[in-house]
Amino acid sequence: MIKINSQAFFKQAKKVIPGGVNSPVRAFNAVGGSPIFIKKAKGAYLFDEDGNKYIDFISSWGPMIIGHAHPFIIDSIKKQADYGTSYGIPTALETKIAELAVKMVPNIDKIRFVNSGTEACMSAVRLARGYTNREKVLKFSGCYHGHADSFLIQAGSGASTLGTPNSPGVTKASASNTILVDYNNKEQLIETFKNNGKELAAVILEPIAGNMGCVIPSEGFVELIRELCNEYGVLLIFDEVMTGFRLAPGGAQEVLGVKADIITFGKVIGGGLPVGAFAGKDEIMNFLAPVGPVYQAGTLSGNPIAMSAGLSMLTYLNEHNEVYSSLSEKTNYLRKGMEKALDKTKISYHINSLGSMISLHFSDEPVVDFKTAQKGDNDRFKKYFHGMLDEGVYLPPSAYESYFLNDAISYEDLDFTIKAFEKVVSTL
Ligand SMILES: *Cc1c(COP(=O)(O)O)cnc(C)c1O
Repeated sequence: MIKINSQAFFKQAKKVIPGGVNSPVRAFNAVGGSPIFIKKAKGAYLFDEDGNKYIDFISSWGPMIIGHAHPFIIDSIKKQADYGTSYGIPTALETKIAELAVKMVPNIDKIRFVNSGTEACMSAVRLARGYTNREKVLKFSGCYHGHADSFLIQAGSGASTLGTPNSPGVTKASASNTILVDYNNKEQLIETFKNNGKELAAVILEPIAGNMGCVIPSEGFVELIRELCNEYGVLLIFDEVMTGFRLAPGGAQEVLGVKADIITFGKVIGGGLPVGAFAGKDEIMNFLAPVGPVYQAGTLSGNPIAMSAGLSMLTYLNEHNEVYSSLSEKTNYLRKGMEKALDKTKISYHINSLGSMISLHFSDEPVVDFKTAQKGDNDRFKKYFHGMLDEGVYLPPSAYESYFLNDAISYEDLDFTIKAFEKVVSTL
């Protein structure tokens, strides 16, 4: 497949945008080659500037859970646009989406809207610090919480769990307030609480991880975090930017049956427009300005077009609960097809999946944390990615990302994908 227009657009973009992209993973650095440029999308399909059609398995990294350009969402955007695009003054629309979110998600009384998942997580941590009057935060290696300073931290050397910056520009001071623990490592978690529990404002995690591939919490892991947080007076933040409204109407709290103190949202909640949010019980949320002392603000927060798209998305999901079982069944069908094809080869692999999230790892060991995710065969992944792309299947361009199915994908699309998969893996 020769991609003349996309390549020309990429070349031009690189002159005026760093790396030609507004978010790094889009640049194909992890897989080589040059990215496709999208002209439009409809339902399960992406169409690039060269006229190629692809079945989309990233769904804009989550938001397009019912497919691209769904009429229910698009109509609400068009209608709202005629009323103006931003006021900086409250709207009834904001209350409506807040009421619906509070109804769908367990254990929350109030929700504050922001413009991205990054902002949601950054603000949630500030709120937790203000509420507890403590400074340290515990996060897990391989969990992504956006690009605020306190999250761009990697494990320090040796026995120390204290983080070090993993990007220039992040200060040592920021890093020294973030403690890193391996996902699914109960012993390390207990030890870290013993040493630092009383200084911790919050533990933040992806309750089902989607940013090191799809990684499922082991039996009792999230429950243990909850118990330790209770014992040491630490707030538990579920980062549900990915899992919120994707795994179930009530997200991971509903799926796992574990309550968090603050929950962050993004992606699905905006229906494809830039929206994030964080939520919790009255007692905690009332710590926020203007009622409480913790400052947080946003000129375009609660933007009417974004709220309108988000409200339509949540309304649709609330009224069509069958979307969740449908997505699960489609994901399982894909998984079985992939396993069948891979079992005909000598390739070692592990597949993780839950609900509409699935990831394939070319590795010998089960993937349970960031270290095991890193052991996958990257060269094989690159060949696999480009092979699938040439067949018209768009997968995440990195071995560390989960696929996110959307319900517009049909069984015909899945059969097409599995056929392409059989062909591609037989060449690996
Ligand atoms: C995508 C993501 C974020 C960041 O959201 P942005 O809207 O990209 O800022 C945070 N946490 C998780 C779990 C995510 O998947």
